[in-house]
Amino acid sequence: MLRPSTSSDSKRLADELNLEAVVAGDARLSPEDALRLYHEAPLHDLGRWASAICDRIHGSGPDAKRTYVIDRNINYTNVCSASCTFCAFFRKEGDDDAYVLTKEQLHDKVRELVKIGGTQVLLQGGMHPNLGVDFYVELLQGLKNEFPGVHIHGFSPPEFVEFVAVYDLDGFPKTDPKKSHELPREVWLAKLEAIMRLLMDAGLDSLPGGGGEIFVPHVRRKIGLGKASAEQWLDVMETAHKLGMYTSGTMMFGHIEGAADRIMHMNSIRTRQDRAIEQGYPGKYISFISWPFQRENTPLGHLPDFDLASEEPFPGDVLAEAVMRGEVDPSDKAACGVAAPRAGKVVRLAGASEYLRTQAISRIFFDNIHSIGSSWVTMGPRIGELGLYYGANDMGSVMMEENVVSAAGTTYCLSEEVLCHLIRDAGFTPAQRDNRYDFLAVHDGPDAPDRKVEDWSTQRAKALHIENQPAEVAPGDEGKNATIPLTVDGK
Ligand code: SF4
Repeated sequence: MLRPSTSSDSKRLADELNLEAVVAGDARLSPEDALRLYHEAPLHDLGRWASAICDRIHGSGPDAKRTYVIDRNINYTNVCSASCTFCAFFRKEGDDDAYVLTKEQLHDKVRELVKIGGTQVLLQGGMHPNLGVDFYVELLQGLKNEFPGVHIHGFSPPEFVEFVAVYDLDGFPKTDPKKSHELPREVWLAKLEAIMRLLMDAGLDSLPGGGGEIFVPHVRRKIGLGKASAEQWLDVMETAHKLGMYTSGTMMFGHIEGAADRIMHMNSIRTRQDRAIEQGYPGKYISFISWPFQRENTPLGHLPDFDLASEEPFPGDVLAEAVMRGEVDPSDKAACGVAAPRAGKVVRLAGASEYLRTQAISRIFFDNIHSIGSSWVTMGPRIGELGLYYGANDMGSVMMEENVVSAAGTTYCLSEEVLCHLIRDAGFTPAQRDNRYDFLAVHDGPDAPDRKVEDWSTQRAKALHIENQPAEVAPGDEGKNATIPLTVDGK
């Protein structure tokens, strides 16, 4: 039973969209319904509806578990053939600070992870144009031989798209970096599957959802220069599902896109997940996580801010809604320019309330995805905790290392103790999970990581490892990247 809405307008909206049945799992929102919710629903009602769905799937009350994973985000290279305008991480081969980790560096990092009880590595790089197939096979085999119990969650779709372009593989043609799309589709798909099987045999366990951003072409062609198209991204994931791997869906929002673009993005993933379920694929999307764009050090971040006090609608909304209504072909650049001349030329960043609104809608919209992750890495610990009341059931990972969003200005870093504390503080029992969201440890006893902390002041600052950052922080840069101030209440 839904709690009453905050206003009669909200109650009418809930009735019109049949939200009681949606929350009960007996109906689903259409993209148009989701857009109405986005524009018309009060934030806290969205939170209540999303929470009710989360409770139905993951349980409610103090014994209900909300989860986290202990993994390490390892970026094995920052060399990338793409030039995404929102990215401050990539380098070109030959740049002074371009790197490819050695086997020893990689293994040292995983050894540190295992020491703190970690179970998974998130292994991602740029789209390196010149690392051969043997490099990846040896990397995976080396990790599995040395750390057989560690789950390898690796290589997001853009990396696979580049593998298909540049790998030398018997029986398949290759092409130039960033030219994967020039291979005939059937050949492309067959080579993709062959590569994926090869990497799975070498030790790859599952795929992260990096590189999703926003799928619609009128946004993607402005922000993802040289990177996987939406269809390629979705095809990589579908191939992984056919081969039995679990993957994540992602979305990076709060830049040039309109709200309808977010909904159309989520709908692309929901539709493919429907197909995975209908076809009985052994794999699927197990989770979805969205986060706001971080602007520092990025070309996209230099675009002017849209004036929120303006009486004009946000140009990204104008274009997105015209596309959603079928009035504009999103692949027709000229038509998009006529429909909304300023679309793509101004940004509308997302703050906490926009983040919570978007996350709650994702929980309500995705009736076929098990887990919604809260993005404390970009939003901070307390908004991450609040996210547990806006549809999220998972707090993601402790963060020993992060190089991609931190390059664009994000600097949060949490220990296992703090993650458990935040989950318990929100009224749930913290549980460590694995990649399939099965519980590895339920922290309901006195020896829970957070309950063993006697002095919370020791948790207030953690060093976040960032690849290729100097150990010494330059004067004036304190707090930017190397040392992270973390406030957990006043404790
Ligand atoms: S976001 Fe990924 S694909 Fe795009 S430039 Fe950065 S590292 Fe490369």
